[in-house]
Amino acid sequence: MAILPGSTIGVLGGGQLGRMFAIAARKMGYRVHTFSPDRDTPTGQVADVEIVAPYEDLDAVRAFAREVAAVTFEFENVPAATAAAASEFAPVRPSGAVLHVTQNRLREKGFLAEHGFPVAPFAPVRSPADLALALVSIGCPAVLKTAGWGYDGKGQAVIRRADEASEAWATLGLASVGAETGAEAILEAFVDFSLELSVVAARGEDGAFVSWGALENHHARHILDLTVAPARVLPEVAARAVELAREILQALDVVGVLCVELFLGRDGRLLVNELAPRPHNSGHLTFDAAATSQFEQQLRAVCGLPLGSTELYRPAAMANLLGDLWAAGEPDWAAALSFPEVKLHLYGKVEARPGRKMGHLTALGGTADEAAALALAARSALARKTSGGSR
Ligand code: AMP
Repeated sequence: MAILPGSTIGVLGGGQLGRMFAIAARKMGYRVHTFSPDRDTPTGQVADVEIVAPYEDLDAVRAFAREVAAVTFEFENVPAATAAAASEFAPVRPSGAVLHVTQNRLREKGFLAEHGFPVAPFAPVRSPADLALALVSIGCPAVLKTAGWGYDGKGQAVIRRADEASEAWATLGLASVGAETGAEAILEAFVDFSLELSVVAARGEDGAFVSWGALENHHARHILDLTVAPARVLPEVAARAVELAREILQALDVVGVLCVELFLGRDGRLLVNELAPRPHNSGHLTFDAAATSQFEQQLRAVCGLPLGSTELYRPAAMANLLGDLWAAGEPDWAAALSFPEVKLHLYGKVEARPGRKMGHLTALGGTADEAAALALAARSALARKTSGGSR
């Protein structure tokens, strides 16, 4: 049975993904309750109700779930017990089973490999001895990553030579934890990629599948910096990326939005890097550039409603705004908005820390190149403020 406008949707997590979800949901007449350990969150500022409690407080989670017609999330690293407690009172979409696979890099890579999806060679690492062995089988260069809780390149170390292994193990903060107590990491072959792509996709209760095609991603300091849509790749590469996403969402039986991050190797092969079972930073441009945004699509999927068109009205690009931009004071918003085809999104975060995602710009253009150039030019304009400039 579809969950119709007027109903209340619960969001686990309080970040910008929940904020944009709440904006889309309220636009369509839904109410939104959010649950996170923090107060005055980006999501809470837009939601009808903001519940502040630790994810481990299962009674609070149950009370939250009792008040809503469905629970979704914008932060996937909630404990499994949290999703389970919520599911006693409301459907959780995507399900706790999808969370379980995607929360842990070893489980995720294992799942992908078992189902025949292309991934870089990898090995589980639970001790320095494991790491030495894994380096023999995988070779150098390789990337060591913590199995859980990693995002934006956190919990990662590149190993270029075997003698860097112990330093990498220490960097991850795993050195003091014995194998018995559960230090868990994954060693992956370093992929010599020419481009990073993502496919943000949605799947309905009835198995309907849509995506916004292949998106092209550029990172700086391991954090997404620029997304360009459509990706500037051969049509067959884009089609293959979408096909992989379709098969992955089906294999995981996703109801909701899931992003597949991919490497395009210099040999033309696509490898799956990571899955995110929620709207994704690379899909933010769908808010301004597509008939249906990734956030509205999440709402439709979670509510059991038909999915909307993912038609991209025009080529688009998204440039992230990190806290670093605030180093010399408030960015010059008017300068960026003097580009008429640029849209400003800010997440309502008070403290602008370096590396923190504070907002983004979306630019529309006649071509992908033009959109990318516009987004970058508008972002540069933000920072080109003379002291005491416009406020
Ligand atoms: P992740 O947190 O796994 O998405 O990694 C963050 C970023 O690190 C990726 O977007 C890549 O730029 C880089 N990276 C991660 N894994 C690898 C790999 N196996 N080979 C090369 N680069 C990688």
